[in-house]
Amino acid sequence: KLRIKGTVQGVGFRPFVFVLAKSEGLTGTVLNDGRGVEAVVEGPSEALERFRTRLLKELPPLASIESVEAEDIPVEGRQDFVILESRSNSVSTVIPADAAVCEACLKELTDKNNRRYRYPFINCTHCGPRYSIIETMPYDRAGTSMKGFRMCPECRREYQDVEDRRFHAQPIGCPSCGPSVKVLFSDGSELGFGHGFDTPAAQVAWVLADGLIVALLGVGGFQLLADASSEAAVRRLRRLKERDAKPFAVMVPDVAAAERLCRLSEEERRLLASPAAPIVLARGGKDVDLAPSVCMFSRFVGIMLPSSPLHALLMDVWGKPLVVTSGNLSGEPLCISVEEGLEKLGHVADVFLVHDRPVVRPVDDSVVRVTDGRAMMVRRARGYAPRPVWRTSAAAPDVLALGAGLKNTICWLKRGVAVMSQHLGDLSSAASLNAFERTVEALGRTLDAVPQVIAVDVHPDGPTFALGRRLARKWNATVVPVQHHQAHVLACAVENETPFPALGIAWDGTGFGTDGTVWGGEFFVLEEEGEPRRVARLRPFLLPGGDEAVREPSRCACSLARQMGPWRTEGLDKRLERGMPVRKREVLEAMMARNIHCPATSSMGRLFDAVAFWCGFDGAAGCEGHAAMMLESWAAEASGEKMPGDAYEWVMHEEEGLLE
Ligand code: ZN
Ligand code: ZN
Repeated sequence: KLRIKGTVQGVGFRPFVFVLAKSEGLTGTVLNDGRGVEAVVEGPSEALERFRTRLLKELPPLASIESVEAEDIPVEGRQDFVILESRSNSVSTVIPADAAVCEACLKELTDKNNRRYRYPFINCTHCGPRYSIIETMPYDRAGTSMKGFRMCPECRREYQDVEDRRFHAQPIGCPSCGPSVKVLFSDGSELGFGHGFDTPAAQVAWVLADGLIVALLGVGGFQLLADASSEAAVRRLRRLKERDAKPFAVMVPDVAAAERLCRLSEEERRLLASPAAPIVLARGGKDVDLAPSVCMFSRFVGIMLPSSPLHALLMDVWGKPLVVTSGNLSGEPLCISVEEGLEKLGHVADVFLVHDRPVVRPVDDSVVRVTDGRAMMVRRARGYAPRPVWRTSAAAPDVLALGAGLKNTICWLKRGVAVMSQHLGDLSSAASLNAFERTVEALGRTLDAVPQVIAVDVHPDGPTFALGRRLARKWNATVVPVQHHQAHVLACAVENETPFPALGIAWDGTGFGTDGTVWGGEFFVLEEEGEPRRVARLRPFLLPGGDEAVREPSRCACSLARQMGPWRTEGLDKRLERGMPVRKREVLEAMMARNIHCPATSSMGRLFDAVAFWCGFDGAAGCEGHAAMMLESWAAEASGEKMPGDAYEWVMHEEEGLLE
């Protein structure tokens, strides 16, 4: 008897076990339950050994195993191998993530003789939507937004045939029974066919070629599309969406097209073509043929491949780089319904490519960057969420962690399994706070979880604090405030299974510190007992004007120059004179001398801002991290993209019991 834990439900695991057992001439049973998959197999011991080895080696593409426990039980003398009904009142905490269209489905998509030729919702057990359509667990068609579509006899036959690639593929469908697409004008009226454009993809490509903007209802909500080679189209998209200077991502038809835009490493190629199909931040090639407003100041190109059959069909006709960005208004959550899309994005997009398979929750495109050969998550959403990020003892209390105010994600710890939500983003608007609260409750419902503990950011005016208190009253839970950077270093230690004691370093923008100052360059000692102990920090400096200093790197430079006193060089002074009007500098100096609206910070992000200013960055930051990203680009160019072996020398002092 084998007990298998991991991502083993909704990924074709039981039929895989079935086929494997049959091929080894074994008999027995396999079933899903609240803890994963249970397989009972009997037969000659060599065959059982081979079965175990192959089980780990030949996994279905979307499955991953965390543990297999084997137990010898009395022989039952079964004559065949059968898949049993799910045994479950207790819901599994592993919700499968959305997966990009697989090779086999892509082949059928372009095969004129296949009954799903050009069908935009083709999927199978090894690919297709999951998290974005799941309403309740266990994962079953009746608990998804596909429940309204009745399978035709042909689809039902595939669904029930254990040796078919679509056995129990919950989102199964075909042109005669599944979802369908429509092309709408922004007033909601249908574009209609004709004019020689025989498919929605062809119509949309024609619209894009005219320099217009298209809103496409994708896997996890709307995306806005524009021709990446047209500066006019990209600029218009930026203006209408009220997008700051943050670079846009581009979609290309295949890896070969990606290679023409970027210099890709092995790992970057692998990520692009993986089932998660994230946006990969890759170094741009020599002569990148993109409109300047796509990547703006960045030397990285955010690049992605088609993540669904609908995208594949569109890219097949379009054939070149396409700007793909989240379909939301600045500071608001992603639009997921057709009505919402038309209402909010009607003034941005000229044409809408929509469908009738409801999107249950907003799931943005994920963003990944490879550093030192290793994938680092920048935005964890479609394709990754809500895969568990950590496991501990099942006896641990159930916890809801509400996360930070910017780049928010939430995390549920249920029966010792930590399930992290998709990226929810900036919680500064009322609309995004509402969406945040809905996500907290919806994910809790899907997991059937009620927390005993709610963790909130220690910042009393932060967006999660009040909600945490309110939910705690509702669920009778204990609120535990956690400092932002302590949370960072603990999360990092847990993710990397770092043995304690350890030194945790949090370099960040700004976060509320427990001593009332603004933290962001902190060093903690982590021990088995107690919370992370802050032992060192970047020497604090003033932020003249508070948030204004976050927007204008010159203010940080002015403050640091003042603090450097005699250590200051002539070059830095000259740069300040050139980069800041005398009058303004006088005002800032006066503010700092009298300590008016000048919070102190130990933020590494603000130090980077100041250094970026000294290296030539002028004006205001066009988006979060703008100055630091420029600095990174310049540093990479200057050092030939290799880190030099030497470091700066620095002096350490002890101040107020902390090293500085
Ligand atoms: Zn497939
Ligand atoms: Zn069908």
